[in-house]
Amino acid sequence: MAGTVHIVGGGLAALSAALELAEAGRRVAIYEGGPACGGRARSYDDKLLGCRLDNGNHLLLSANETVFAYLDRIGARNTLVGPGAPIFPFHDLAAGLDWTVRLSAGRIPWWVFSKRRRVPGMRLGELVGLLKLMRAGPNRTISECLEPGALADRLMIPLAVSVLNTRPEIGSAALMGAVMRESMAKGGAACVPWFPAEGLSESLVDPALVRLRSLGVTIRTGCRVAGLGLVHGRVGTMLLPEGQVDLGPGDQMILAVPAQSVRDLTAGVLPDLTAPDQFESILNLHYRADVLDQVTGDLARARFAGVVGGLAEWVFVKPGILSVTVSAANHLADRTPESLALSIWREVRAVVSPYLKPGTALPEAPPLYRVVREKRATFAATPAQERLRPQCLTSVPNLMLAGDWTATGLPATIEGAMRSGLVAARALTQVAGRH
Ligand SMILES: Cc1cc2nc3c(=O)[nH]c(=O)nc-3n(C[C@H](O)[C@H](O)[C@H](O)COP(=O)(O)OP(=O)(O)OC[C@H]3O[C@@H](n4cnc5c(N)ncnc54)[C@H](O)[C@@H]3O)c2cc1C
Repeated sequence: MAGTVHIVGGGLAALSAALELAEAGRRVAIYEGGPACGGRARSYDDKLLGCRLDNGNHLLLSANETVFAYLDRIGARNTLVGPGAPIFPFHDLAAGLDWTVRLSAGRIPWWVFSKRRRVPGMRLGELVGLLKLMRAGPNRTISECLEPGALADRLMIPLAVSVLNTRPEIGSAALMGAVMRESMAKGGAACVPWFPAEGLSESLVDPALVRLRSLGVTIRTGCRVAGLGLVHGRVGTMLLPEGQVDLGPGDQMILAVPAQSVRDLTAGVLPDLTAPDQFESILNLHYRADVLDQVTGDLARARFAGVVGGLAEWVFVKPGILSVTVSAANHLADRTPESLALSIWREVRAVVSPYLKPGTALPEAPPLYRVVREKRATFAATPAQERLRPQCLTSVPNLMLAGDWTATGLPATIEGAMRSGLVAARALTQVAGRH
């Protein structure tokens, strides 16, 4: 009889794998090292701001089929909000210009022919760059594929930096191309943006834990796995806080820890494992400002806007909070929170003010704020790092890998993480069936 599946890590890759296995009737145990599940997509109570915050703003697209299937399984699809249409408001700080990209719903990109829907100043000739991205080989970078011009500067580079969390000069065109084939190439219906109404944990984690517990899954938090041991060529032991535990003969394991933890954990088990070893940070700046009821127009509809030409990349308007995302933020490591809060607040005012109802205004000085730096938010999505991503199957028959850094064919995203969890769960099931 198939034994227990031990899942190390409690991020979204782990939860997606656990759901697949538990619904198929397998016995599952999750070991999360941190105080709560969710990993790099989690919410917490912020004492300074006196409200609940996400570690970072996360945007999903309707193209993220695995994520939406997961949300349906845990009954949480209705916890997301979004404009309900493929619209992306933008603000160019240098030009003082606002516009909204409005993609056409179907596959034919009629939007590029309409001045009211496309990027101001773009030339149709620049569209060649999108085709080049979608057909790019493994060694090409984003900058090598895009044609210089407004489409690149005002849409594609901002999108690529946030999708890859890597600068365009070194970012992998193939990874961006993979995302575009699943989204833009399928038309606007695949590009509708969504994000959690309340918080990442409330949408993606807590309802999953309820469902998993109802299926009998054991979930241990604060339970760091410190080592693994081989017995007759299989993972046979694991080191838990209370000591070494032996695995049963039919037991299997999914390692769903981040790339930076996996090499230490598998040193004695998978000595030849390769994994990405360069990372990019993401900086989020949350300002205490309650303007959700005061914004109008496309900002009120989308609740976020892209920013061109500044430090900020996206501004989200959330209940009680104005929240800014800066991706590929390693270059800001030396900036103090105070100087960042000041510079970025000026940008936030420029972006939000044109949409405020008459008679309302944002203060000149930044309100109370919290800076959250995720130092190793994702692996650096370069062609060289892409080559280090391992498949989920390992040389140890009862051990699989999962996580956004494994060879998913996508950049480090929730969709990639959840897909990797499913792939690992299905591979384990096949192996268990063979034995
Ligand atoms: C600020 C930020 C913004 C982002 N924005 C987006 C976005 O807009 N859209 C999008 O799709 N994606 C976004 N992402 C990426 C997304 O969050 C990740 O791809 C996804 O959450 C990764 O999930 P995972 O399960 O692979 O890894 P993780 O979330 O890292 O989960 C791994 C878990 O393993 C645990 N662990 C580690 N070592 C051990 C051990 N020895 N024993 C037990 N447990 C251990 C960790 O504590 C962690 O909980 C963003 C990420 C960040 C940080």
